[in-house]
Order: sequence, then C-alpha cells, then structure tokens
Amino acid sequence: MSRVPPAHDLVDDHPREECGVFGVAAPGRDTSRLAFFALHAMQHRGQESAGIAVAEAGRVTVQRELGLVGEVFDEPALRTLTGSLAIGHVRYSTTGSNKWENSQPVVVTRGADVVALGHNGNLTNTDRLRERLVGGGALLTATTDSELIAALIAQAAPGTLLDAVCEVMPLLVGAFSVVSLSGSELVAFRDAHGVRPLVIGALPGGYCVASETCAFDQIGATFVREVHPGEAVRVTPDGLDSRQAIPSEGGKLCVFEAIYFARPDSVLDGQAVWDARRAMGVVLAEESPADADLVIGLPDSGTPAAIGFAHGSGIPYAEGVVRNRYVGRSFIQPEQELRQAGVRLKFNPLRSVIEGRRLVVVDDSIVRGTTMRQMVAMLEDAGASEVHLRISSPPVAWPCFYGIDMANRDELIAAGATVDDITETVGATSLEYLSLAGLQRALGRPAGRYCRACFTGDYPIPVPGEALKLRFEAVGA
Ligand code: AMP
Repeated sequence: MSRVPPAHDLVDDHPREECGVFGVAAPGRDTSRLAFFALHAMQHRGQESAGIAVAEAGRVTVQRELGLVGEVFDEPALRTLTGSLAIGHVRYSTTGSNKWENSQPVVVTRGADVVALGHNGNLTNTDRLRERLVGGGALLTATTDSELIAALIAQAAPGTLLDAVCEVMPLLVGAFSVVSLSGSELVAFRDAHGVRPLVIGALPGGYCVASETCAFDQIGATFVREVHPGEAVRVTPDGLDSRQAIPSEGGKLCVFEAIYFARPDSVLDGQAVWDARRAMGVVLAEESPADADLVIGLPDSGTPAAIGFAHGSGIPYAEGVVRNRYVGRSFIQPEQELRQAGVRLKFNPLRSVIEGRRLVVVDDSIVRGTTMRQMVAMLEDAGASEVHLRISSPPVAWPCFYGIDMANRDELIAAGATVDDITETVGATSLEYLSLAGLQRALGRPAGRYCRACFTGDYPIPVPGEALKLRFEAVGA
C-alpha cells in the first residue's frame, strides 16, 4: 500500500513500499495466532506496522499498531482476537508516512457489513479513482491507495464480498496483491500482471493465502498454487471459489523479489529463491571473473550469490563480514545521514579473515550506493588489499512504481552513470554487474515472465505521465 499523494508529492515523498499479507479460513483453529506466526515469518516485508483482523458470525475485529509483529501482539491480544477467518498485514515504508493511520488492515463499512483489507503493491491511477469516488458522492477521508480500494469495495453494488471485489478489480491500475475480509467471507485478489507474489496454502482445518511460502512453512501449511494474475479467490475452510475477475496479462512477477526482497527460503513462481540467487552468483562468476583469494558476501542478502560465485570461480568462500541482526534494513532509515550510520551499525568486517587478502565482495544490488561506498572503505581499513565488487543484478537505473522503495531517479547511483563512474565513486578495485541476459539465464525463465522495469525502464503497467516526469526530471533524463 502507499500514501496517495498529489503527483507533485511523488518527488520528495517516497510513497512506494513493500508489504506482506496473509489470510486464513479455518474454523476451530486459532486463526489470529496463525496470522501472528505467518506475519512473523514475513517480517522482512514490513517492519513499520502490523495488524490482524478476524471475523466471526458477521462481526469483524481489528487490531493494528506501529511496530514489529512481536511488539504489536501479545498473548492477551491474540486471545481476544477470535474468529474462523483472519487476515494480517505487515507494512514497510519510508519518509513521512510512519503514522498509525497508515497501518493496515484498513476498515470500511459496507451496508450493514464491515470490510477489512490488507494490500501489498502500489496503484498508479489513484487520482482517477479518487475523482470517481468523490464524483459518486463518497465522503473520502482516504489518504492511502489501500483505503481507496476499500472505499470502492464499500460503494460496490450489494452482494457478496467476492462480487464486490470482481466489480472493483477492473477499475484498479497498478500492482496489487490483496487480502480482504467481511463478516463472513475471505477474498484474496491479485492484479492482472501478478507483480507482487500471492500464494495459496492448505492446512489442517482450512486454507490460507500469503505473500510468501515461508509463511506456510511457519504454520504447517502446504503450498497449493499461486493466486493467478487477475484472479479473485474466495478462500473457505473447504476450498477455493475462484473467478477470473480481469483478464490475465500473462504474469510479470517483480524480478527484484527474486533478487532481493523475498526470503531465500520462499518459493517464487515454482523456484526456490535461494537456488535462484546462488545461480545468479554462478553466472556472475562466469561473466565477470576476478583474480582474488577469497569470496565474501554481504550478509544476508548477498550470501547465496557469494556461495554461487565461489562455486563458479573455484575461489574459496569465507565469512568476511559479521552482521548485527538487531538492525533493520538500512533503507528503513528515511534520512540519508541515518542511512549512512546504519551501514556501520549493520556490518563489521572480520579483520583476521580479510587482512592482506584480495577479496571478491558479492552483494545482490546497488541502489543509492550508500552501502557499497562505506563497505569498501571499511574493508580497506580492515586490511583488504583489493576489493572486487560483483553485484548479482544489473544496475538499478529506474524507479519502481509498483511497490518497492527504490528512490527517485536522481538518487539511483546507476542512473546516468557508467560502471566506471560507479567504481570510482564507491572506491572499489573493480566492479561488475550481472547482465540482464545472465540474470534470465540464472532464473531459467523467459524475460517476459518478469517486470524488470528497474533495470530497463520498460514499465509493463501504465504510470501516470506527470509522476514519471516529476520523478525523472531531477536527473535531466
Ligand atoms: P544502497 O546502499 O542504497 O546502494 O542499497 C543497496 C543495499 O540495500 C543492498 O545491500 C541491498 O541488499 C539492499 N536493498 C536493495 N534494495 C532495497 C530496498 N528496496 N529496500 C531495502 N534494502 C534494499
């Protein structure tokens, strides 16, 4: 979900954000506890706020708060959240939107019913939706695109929640993987391109949906299938009631989920994420070898690709940097100064391992360059004689409009700069990125299966012209 700013806000404010969603229909099970553990497994997708809504016999109860899942819910809270249906949400965001009001699930009334909704993704036609709602006489207090979806569902013709979702889906443009709940129905739905992941699982006593399969492992559910692009599914204790609400555009999973965002122990589009990342490292070693003594990865996101690089190159793998696990992702710090402090808080080089060594340092991506610039300096301070950076994705040169915070174009170090410029800026001995073709080879799937806009600038879903212009003009592109 994201705040809905007027287009000019898109420059200073970073409305794009990742989130994680979960839903379960299982009478007789402790559904809020299942949601709690599933959200815990997906904490990496959102560390700013957490929420759970439960439904029983027409009554919907919601609890949401700023904080980590384990901070927001304690034993007494979970005991009061009872119902045969539940949904949950974790939210991750940046500047200016660290407010309780933006936490989810959002709640609206729909006739005599209540609808709660959790959204992962980002809509690109919010202005038009807002006009439509106001034109339809809605008293709109919504500030986020998730609230707009909820408001549209509230306005839909009387009928089941599944009917309402099917009426609303054709109006939405953008990326959305959503779980929604009424007093008696749980409905999950996904945009026509399937940009954000959404999977269905079976567990004793019912069915569930989640952003990632790692949530299923946590709660003892087994993977059934993905929610198809454009599909709306009513999830019941006995099975699935599916409708193709809008035509599928064939599936354009965000490739950055495979590279960085998803947990390595999740399975995306039938492929183990860890295996895909290791394969990226193997291909990278083939494409861009280096003469070095050791391969190290930046933990944790660079580790599988570093192991792959070591395997592919025959250079030994070593743990050369220790990560403080109590520091969140450095991007979560909205200010650049805090972000820089965050790198030092997060990583500490192991002098005894790296002193006097020529290193290959593998990481999954360079976005702003903050991490790498500091890492190179820290590794050299700790005695590394050479630092060859190898990045297991192509240069991120275009902002994301579909739900990952990647900064404006002028903040992206690869926008308008050559690899030589970047090598110099970060101070490395050498720097090479995985090629786009190499990335596809590692994924073992055709390019058409992914949204790769952050590397190519080729956006599969229309982005409002004004927003594009404003986000790009800062670099004169
Ligand atoms: P930067 O320091 O801005 O170049 O960010 C790159 C580092 O942040 C890499 O180590 C990535 O693992 C990580 N990263 C990449 N994309 C994101 C994102 N959208 N949110 C948080 N961290 C990210």
